[in-house]
Amino acid sequence: MSKIQMKTPIVEMDGDEMTRIIWRMVKDIVINPYVDLKTEYYDLGLENREKTGDQVTYDAAVATRRLDVGVKCATITPNAQRVEEYKLSKMWPSPNATIRAVLDGTVFRSPILVDGVKPYVGGWIKPITIARHAYGDIYKSVEALVPQGSKAQLVITAPDGTQSVKDIFDFANSSGIVMGMHNTDASIRSFAHACFKFALDQKQDLWFGAKDTISKTYDHHFKDVFAQIFEEDYKASFEKAGIEYFYTLIDDAVARVIRSEGGFIWACKNYDGDVMSDMVATAFGSLSMMTSVLVNPEGAFEYEAAHGTITRHYYRYLKGETPMSNPIATLFAWTGALKKRGELDGTPELSAFAQKVEDAMFRTVSEGFVTRDLYLMSSLEKKEIVSTEAFLNKIVEAI
Ligand code: NAP
Ligand code: MG
Repeated sequence: MSKIQMKTPIVEMDGDEMTRIIWRMVKDIVINPYVDLKTEYYDLGLENREKTGDQVTYDAAVATRRLDVGVKCATITPNAQRVEEYKLSKMWPSPNATIRAVLDGTVFRSPILVDGVKPYVGGWIKPITIARHAYGDIYKSVEALVPQGSKAQLVITAPDGTQSVKDIFDFANSSGIVMGMHNTDASIRSFAHACFKFALDQKQDLWFGAKDTISKTYDHHFKDVFAQIFEEDYKASFEKAGIEYFYTLIDDAVARVIRSEGGFIWACKNYDGDVMSDMVATAFGSLSMMTSVLVNPEGAFEYEAAHGTITRHYYRYLKGETPMSNPIATLFAWTGALKKRGELDGTPELSAFAQKVEDAMFRTVSEGFVTRDLYLMSSLEKKEIVSTEAFLNKIVEAI
């Protein structure tokens, strides 16, 4: 059988620990036998980040902007213990933060729903994708404790030096706290563009909620920027695709999300996204079943699993245990990237292959072949624990 040919390479970012092992298995067992894989390979494993002074991470991000499609393995974000463990010369920054900064992207996280694993919220039958604005608000705020008797004011100095001053609060009767936060139009706009683009890409409705009734300038500005960009750039294509953009108050959005059956993208301000993505991920069942896509405003896509390098499993693997981790999210990072490559290159056979692999995964799980984590969650009557490798082989049999 002849292999499927690719026109343009995808950026392949290798990673660390257990997921590095899974990465190899996914390629060897599922992809390489069928696709004449073209990638630009960047080794983001911690050893190579150390060796290159982290240049490799930056190069991979720039390459993703150039080639428009990247796939990334989970990587270690160094902390003090890792600096010791890997004898690092520096506590290198989180690769995901570096990549996000270069691509100026928004992260979309979606659960993969399989037979036998029921979300905690009974009505959710389709995935809910959370888009979190990853810049500003309380994550870049300035705060202070305020002694009693002080007055807090907001001062804005214009380019010509003139100042506008607003009273925040007079702390005459009690000490207290104060915080100043900001966002930029550039960042809000690029967040909005990424959300509208991704909704079109997925052919799903886009929801957005903020507290504009209370925050009549700050949150209201988010609402206005979204509305303006939608009207100017996306309204027509949304109509054509048969999807909707829908704005409501954040508390109303939360209530509607719980009552919904899923199947939409939920854009969240930074803090809301931080809180809601953990809520949604947990309610859908498992971190091992979440995928993550970084979309930049110019339309570059970077796919990855939402989970980390599964350190605990890796240490057991080093002691000789057969790999038993769930490869689904890593596999779907690859199929997501291949589908997108096929779409951008006009090579439908590549996208069709990726879709077949995903369908085969769903069939394999419905037949009861699952990794240990899914076994523990699954309500299927007939089920059997298989290793990572055996699971991937079952998928290939089902293609
Ligand atoms: P983790 O790797 O996501 O794993 C936490 C636990 O979740 C595991 O111990 C395991 O539970 C379960 N789990 C996660 N993925 C699984 C899978 N595919 N199959 C089965 N079980 C799975 O998080 P962590 O242990 O906190 O972080 C480990 C390293 O990953 C850290 O160095 C961190 O910096 C890095 N990290 C990277 C990324 C990224 O690159 N995007 C994201 C998060 C964390 P049991 O042990 O109970 O089986
Ligand atoms: Mg969080």
